[in-house]
Amino acid sequence: MKTFRIGGIHPAENKLSATSPIKVAELPKIAVFPLAQHIGAPAKAIVQKGDKVKVGQMIAEANGFVSAHIFSSVSGTVLKIDNAIDASGYGKPAIYITVEGDEWLESIDRTPQLITIKDKPELTDKDIVEKVKNAGIVGMGGACFPCHVKLSPPPGTKPEWVIINAAECEPYLTADHRLMLEHADEILVGVTLLMKAVNVNKGYVAIEKNKADAIKIMQEKASAYDNIEIVTLKTKYPQGGEKQLIDAVVSRQVPAPPALPVSVGAIIQNVGTAYAVYEAVMKNKPLIERIVTVTGKSLKSPSNFLTRLGTPMSQLIDACGGLPEDTGKIIGGGPMMGKALLSTEIPICKGSSGVLIMNEKEASRTEPQNCIRCGKCVDACPMGLEPYLLSDCSELKLWERLEKEDVTSCIECGSCQYTCPAYRPLLDYIRLGKTTVMGIIRSRNTK
Ligand code: SF4
Ligand code: SF4
Repeated sequence: MKTFRIGGIHPAENKLSATSPIKVAELPKIAVFPLAQHIGAPAKAIVQKGDKVKVGQMIAEANGFVSAHIFSSVSGTVLKIDNAIDASGYGKPAIYITVEGDEWLESIDRTPQLITIKDKPELTDKDIVEKVKNAGIVGMGGACFPCHVKLSPPPGTKPEWVIINAAECEPYLTADHRLMLEHADEILVGVTLLMKAVNVNKGYVAIEKNKADAIKIMQEKASAYDNIEIVTLKTKYPQGGEKQLIDAVVSRQVPAPPALPVSVGAIIQNVGTAYAVYEAVMKNKPLIERIVTVTGKSLKSPSNFLTRLGTPMSQLIDACGGLPEDTGKIIGGGPMMGKALLSTEIPICKGSSGVLIMNEKEASRTEPQNCIRCGKCVDACPMGLEPYLLSDCSELKLWERLEKEDVTSCIECGSCQYTCPAYRPLLDYIRLGKTTVMGIIRSRNTK
């Protein structure tokens, strides 16, 4: 069975919500839309206090090529444009909308009828990229890179395959798993659209073997679509990393940054992105909602919700039985790559794949000990780095050495820290070092 070659770990899966069908979350009373919820330039607000908006109406426009439009997921009145705390912990400009009713733009097709590429033979590659751009779609796996940019490969590169990341290798998260069980056809049409957009005639949907029911349904459905192969992968973290996925599926290795996956022929998109592309192109629906897993061992009923963007996380937690008394930490995303959140009032954004409530026992950190040079972090690192060394260099602020040791290749997967028997906070130091070195490289390149 396929997997990536270097490093990797096997954390407890804890997919508590895997059997919980997607429920439609209630509308919020006030929806909040941060203008910076994607990689690239923040969007620019095009509404003002007092404006009336409908569901699907653009409220902020992309501010450059690497940026993305933002659409209202609710109908109502713009309350204010003001700072809101987002998952980064910082207050950033956001549009607040008081929800009134649920009035959608008529141009959006809300029927469940499946539309395939055969129903729209006139669609060109350029049409698809334009519609994706106009719908504000970004990578839904959490990276939030504008999708239309990935579908516009740089000159000199030649895409060969679209690889759909359906590994969902983070423990606890089940949003992609449920999406495949409940919307396999829409995803597969989305894959055909992505393949057409970049002119390739081979698509892979890569799923880890711990999702056997999703593999079965996707294989059954894929037989009706040309040139899409469902690939079963071993269950191993961090298989959803772009470089790891490419290695696992087509056995190619992406060179060090700034090389992109397309330099070895691969266009990677998340399975949720494929679904969003289907909705944008075939249903004229911009990115206004997403599936969110809300989970945790002490939570009464871990669930998957179809959630309008802008909904506060607290509302989803309440719908799962409320915040448990023994809550130790709230994480945006999964336990490996997610970030601790300061508040439950943070709104669901385009990249919010999950909310994990860790109990006090899980959240407690053991006091770090001295490194015993066991090398386990080196064995675990999927990028072939030396995490103990990167961490030490960062702690000692040896930025030049850190750059030489290739810290910018770190994908911040946390495998090193997870595996360290001395409980060293490796990822914390490596992240700090990587951010500093990337800043140094940026300022050097602008001189
Ligand atoms: S966080 Fe970075 S250094 Fe640590 S295992 Fe992952 S890629 Fe390697
Ligand atoms: S796993 Fe921990 S103790 Fe072992 S070499 Fe790495 S940092 Fe040191």
